[in-house]
Amino acid sequence: MNVNKENINFETEYLTDEQKKQTLNDGLARLKAAGFKMTKKRQEILEIFIEEGKYLRAKEIHDRLTNKYPSMSYNTTYRNIYDFIKVGILESTEYNQEQLFKINCMDQEHDSNHHHHHFICRLCGLSIPLKACPMDHIDTDLSDVLIESHRFEVFGLCATCKLK
Ligand SMILES: [Zn+2]
Ligand SMILES: [Zn+2]
Ligand SMILES: [Zn+2]
Repeated sequence: MNVNKENINFETEYLTDEQKKQTLNDGLARLKAAGFKMTKKRQEILEIFIEEGKYLRAKEIHDRLTNKYPSMSYNTTYRNIYDFIKVGILESTEYNQEQLFKINCMDQEHDSNHHHHHFICRLCGLSIPLKACPMDHIDTDLSDVLIESHRFEVFGLCATCKLK
């Protein structure tokens, strides 16, 4: 997969510069509250996710970090990403047994407290919030069970990737 797509603008879950700053500060505060030490690397990982605003593979994050920190191990990158998941800064999903990570939408002003799902581009990770939840359209009688959670994601190719 080609991960060098810096020249393309992939904004969908639009964040203004102000919101990006806010999201970064929230994330850092959340890490601190959970007892994690704030390191330059952690902050940089967070900044990459906020800047991109789309789903990324751990390898993509790692490749960027090793440009700057050649000795950083993949393990360290992965552990940091998982710490972010634990404190709710990142959310994850998977496609073809590969894990994808993204800044948690619930932190973002555009849809705070709004339950929603995503279309996800399987090539570039671009995500588009969906305006409907399929749970609202299930006719099966589920009154006997206790529903605890549900997942729904639409995978495909975004407008840019489908032209390649
Ligand atoms: Zn979202
Ligand atoms: Zn795409
Ligand atoms: Zn739903």
